[in-house]
Amino acid sequence: MPAPTYEEIRLAPKVLLHDHLDGGLRPATIIELADAVGHPLPSTDAGELGGWFARAADSGSLERYLETFTHTVAVTQTAEALHRVAVECALDLAADGVVYAEVRFAPEQHLERDLALPGVVEAVLAGFAEGSRQAAVAGTPIRVGTLLTAMRHAARSMEIAELAVRYRDSGVVGFDIAGAEAGYPPTRHLDAFEYLQRENFHFTIHAGEAFGLPSIWQAIQWCGADRLGHGVRIVDDIDPVTGKLGRLAAYVRDKRIPLELCPSSNVQTGAAPSVAEHPIGLLRDLRFRVTVNTDNRLMSRTSMTREMALLVEAFGYGWGELQWFTVNAMKSAFIPFDERLTLINEVIKPAYVKLLG
Ligand SMILES: [Zn+2]
Repeated sequence: MPAPTYEEIRLAPKVLLHDHLDGGLRPATIIELADAVGHPLPSTDAGELGGWFARAADSGSLERYLETFTHTVAVTQTAEALHRVAVECALDLAADGVVYAEVRFAPEQHLERDLALPGVVEAVLAGFAEGSRQAAVAGTPIRVGTLLTAMRHAARSMEIAELAVRYRDSGVVGFDIAGAEAGYPPTRHLDAFEYLQRENFHFTIHAGEAFGLPSIWQAIQWCGADRLGHGVRIVDDIDPVTGKLGRLAAYVRDKRIPLELCPSSNVQTGAAPSVAEHPIGLLRDLRFRVTVNTDNRLMSRTSMTREMALLVEAFGYGWGELQWFTVNAMKSAFIPFDERLTLINEVIKPAYVKLLG
């Protein structure tokens, strides 16, 4: 069977669990929004600006990678701007063949002008709803769930966790912490995670990206994370020659804890030397609950289609593996079980049956 082509992958239903709203703005939109508020940019040409983001993110350091967000965050400080970027996010993902996405953002980063936390969340939720409506009209239906992120270096995680629970029936499906890992362990936000557990709510934690096993161990065994944002460093607990798992890696695999792997992003931040050498190959062979994600589409100049195409190229994957990643992701989503099952049985599997021939 010939390898899936880029265009075939684009048309296939895909599921995305780890995508940052402020990491996926269209360059042309950034320029328009920056112009409206007088925010200076490195370039006012959309093509050049897109290249600038990718180069800055390519530097190999997570800290510099995070620096690029000062621009996308600076231009999204009003309800109108947040609504617009959320609409465009839903439309861009739908046009890329994503049928279910969980998109995350940090409300506390959008308070520089006159918005308060509820206004930030409501603008984004309304934007995702409007974008999903337009995508359905265009014949590319998508469902978008929202994750609220707290910044791990800040001290608002409890407030953001409460905000997530408050909007749980309006489209917020989970919680996350993000930002530079080193020096800011997940246990710093333990009260927020314990609160969420008492509320029977779902959360993922950025862990095991720049930082190793202790971060993953804390996220799971102290904080109770449902999923791991990246979690790629779990390979540090696997013998590269024999494939023998240490106790933590075994626990992660036994419990089917989903790994939100983001190949291109990991290469940019230095967590993997190349896509071909990315631990996703090993983790898939060992049957961890692997999912494929974009992380920041603007900074990595990527999409779900591109991430999957890169894996096809690097590892020789076919439709069987692409279906497995997609079903893994759908099983691991934070929406109710019956709704996940409906998407698997009525949208994903019928499409892959045809692709598998
Ligand atoms: Zn991320």
